[in-house]
Amino acid sequence: MPRTAKSKGCPLCGKPSHPDHAPFCSQGCKDRDLLKWLGDGYRIPGPPVDDQDPLGRVDSEEGES
Ligand SMILES: [Zn+2]
Repeated sequence: MPRTAKSKGCPLCGKPSHPDHAPFCSQGCKDRDLLKWLGDGYRIPGPPVDDQDPLGRVDSEEGES
């Protein structure tokens, strides 16, 4: 059993984490992780269901009659 369970290292690149940037190894990895989270947040503005629903309804109604 390895005794290094305490210091897991940088979650991004696996290098030993730096006390100044814990749990990351450097400011670069810290920034990258932050950007990753920000990017994920901005990528979920909500699907444009409102624009597609009326179109689908009109299409199916026209096809029936
Ligand atoms: Zn790193």
